[in-house]
Amino acid sequence: MTSGRYPRILAEEIFKRRIFWNKALKSLCEQNACEFDLSFERGGVLKDRLDSLQQKIKDTWLANTKNNALASQDRIYRLLDHSVRSLDLTAKSQKASMFVLGWVCRARGDLLQLNGRPHSSDDGDGLSQACSLCNSGEKENMMHFLADCQVLGEFRMANFGSSRLSHEMVLSIMNGLNWLPLAKFCSAAWAYRSELVSHFNWDRS
Ligand SMILES: [Zn+2]
Repeated sequence: MTSGRYPRILAEEIFKRRIFWNKALKSLCEQNACEFDLSFERGGVLKDRLDSLQQKIKDTWLANTKNNALASQDRIYRLLDHSVRSLDLTAKSQKASMFVLGWVCRARGDLLQLNGRPHSSDDGDGLSQACSLCNSGEKENMMHFLADCQVLGEFRMANFGSSRLSHEMVLSIMNGLNWLPLAKFCSAAWAYRSELVSHFNWDRS
């Protein structure tokens, strides 16, 4: 852009006075340990610096998000092998069907709306975190759903050959030992749970 254009004049004034977006950029550079050396005179350098800043922001966000996720208590994904990629949206072909991958993502990401949820307690909101299906009084989290709940035993038997699973076995399955039975179990057991809570039982939703 030529030097006489209004947007250029405006941008240069903002740059000189260190205000508005320039101030925000400086702050972002400091937060992400990037050199704040932005200049209108060196267009190529400016683009490289902004690209580098963008990449650092992305990396920092990803690292912080991962740390927060792994620090959260009572979530099954803390225990999983994180080198496993259940779904790679950039891959040209997937090894498993979308039915399987969808359920694997939900199971590994702890995304089912079970009663046991982080940052809530039985006392806090008056709603129980106990399992909706069995009378064990156990917190209904992903491990209880996959491994322990007695009401779902027949679905485990049909898909895994056992009515209960050890927690180690659940982690092995989630880490890719056998995803098809996992998807079939989750699909059938989740439908059964939905049917029960819509007619006979209760849940927190
Ligand atoms: Zn249960």
